[in-house]
Amino acid sequence: MSAYEAVIGLEVHAQLRTRTKIFCSCSTQFGREPNSNVCPVCTGMPGVLPVLNRTAVEYAAKMGMAVECAVNPRSVFARKNYFYPDLPKAYQISQYELPLAEHGRLRITVNGTEKTIGITRIHMEEDAGKSIHSSTENKSFVDLNRTGVPLIEIVSEPDLRSADEAVAYLKALRSILVYLEICDGNMEEGSFRCDANVSIRPKGATELGTRAELKNLNSFRHVHKAIEYEISRQAALLEDGERVVQETRLYDVDKGVTVSMRGKEEAHDYRYFPDPDLVPLLITAELLADLKRSIPELPQAREARFITEYGLPEAAAQTLTAEKDLADYFEAAARLYPEPQRISNWILSDLLRELNQAKTAAADSPLTPAHLAELLGMIDSGQISTRIAKQIFPDVFTTRESPREIVERKGLAQISDTGALEAVVDSILSSNPKEVEAFKNGKTKLMGFFVGQVMRQTKGQANPDLVNKLILEKLQ
Ligand code: ADP
Ligand code: MG
Ligand code: ZN
Repeated sequence: MSAYEAVIGLEVHAQLRTRTKIFCSCSTQFGREPNSNVCPVCTGMPGVLPVLNRTAVEYAAKMGMAVECAVNPRSVFARKNYFYPDLPKAYQISQYELPLAEHGRLRITVNGTEKTIGITRIHMEEDAGKSIHSSTENKSFVDLNRTGVPLIEIVSEPDLRSADEAVAYLKALRSILVYLEICDGNMEEGSFRCDANVSIRPKGATELGTRAELKNLNSFRHVHKAIEYEISRQAALLEDGERVVQETRLYDVDKGVTVSMRGKEEAHDYRYFPDPDLVPLLITAELLADLKRSIPELPQAREARFITEYGLPEAAAQTLTAEKDLADYFEAAARLYPEPQRISNWILSDLLRELNQAKTAAADSPLTPAHLAELLGMIDSGQISTRIAKQIFPDVFTTRESPREIVERKGLAQISDTGALEAVVDSILSSNPKEVEAFKNGKTKLMGFFVGQVMRQTKGQANPDLVNKLILEKLQ
């Protein structure tokens, strides 16, 4: 493989989070009864006319600006003609020669190395419906709820050189879309999906090799595996003196391989032409300026700010800012309790673990930023030990009580009462005379043993500083 270099270009489809479809007023809500979000327009009845959704245009233009594209003041919708049961009009309205936005770029970092990936174009289009093939009956069904849902397609230059770079690029794109609140980024539901074009060429060559287009990549893991598999498949062909053929290949999730779906000969001729039902889309400089002002701080800028403003290590800043709601969570907690590094540690270890387990987003976390601040406050005022704090953290997720309520209900408050602790210390010392003797003869390492025994007996609730002080006093 080392004799070859991989070349990858990605076509990403992102579903825009509008309330209604791109050319009609049907709802875009996911998961409804099949064929309930439909009307004569999106089912392609004769005589109807599409009306462009203004919000979809605004969202698409925002994404264009966020990745430094030039947004064209005039773009044109075109018909992409093909026949398929999930496409009732037998054409998809898309953009072809004059897309909404072009010539953008996106910076990615892989293994500490920065790289800029060119974005060829971003165009708007409508989604198709969904074919459902029954496994029990010998039948197929069509659900047109998704027909006409607004999409943007983001096409990259063939600038990516590895599966790692491809995944880093996809994650960066997805993160921006979610920050802009124009796409929910849900890969499982298909709101963010991609096709990967993969070719290889001898290292140092400038011409592109013949590519395969990989489909059915619905998670970052699948994208990574499919690209790696495809690179080695193509390399093996070339090593054997064979040629790569241009074709569309499907990723088989179970087998971890790509399989041929259709070759170049079977490729569609889409007979694109401008849609006569839609006038050219004109975007004024004024609207663009308004939209630009509404773009929030984006993930890469936020990451840089987290490093300078809160003094966080780069890795922490990157994880915290990758998802907007997690970054918001962090900043809310840091405002309530200005100890950013500790807050970051608690989020990255305990919060993320619990959110993953509960399959919950940071925005819906039962343990709120206020709870985290409360927890740190209780530790710092000596009401509970760090150990107890770690212990009750998951309880907030199951019982939905505040940390303080749990501490009170379970009687977990730290024992800082000298009298109560003295009794425990006395009993530990008197039941371990040999250790006491050894300590007095200079084996001071045994301090840890005594403290440990006291903590055990008090179920971790003893104030460790006080325990240390009491033991030392007794052993003087
Ligand atoms: P199509 O519309 O037929 O899919 P395009 O020429 O628009 O083809 O390219 C689609 C994607 O394929 C782009 O992301 C582009 O960067 C990528 N691409 C084109 N040629 C190659 C190649 N030889 N190897 C890898 N990627 C490629
Ligand atoms: Mg393509
Ligand atoms: Zn409709």
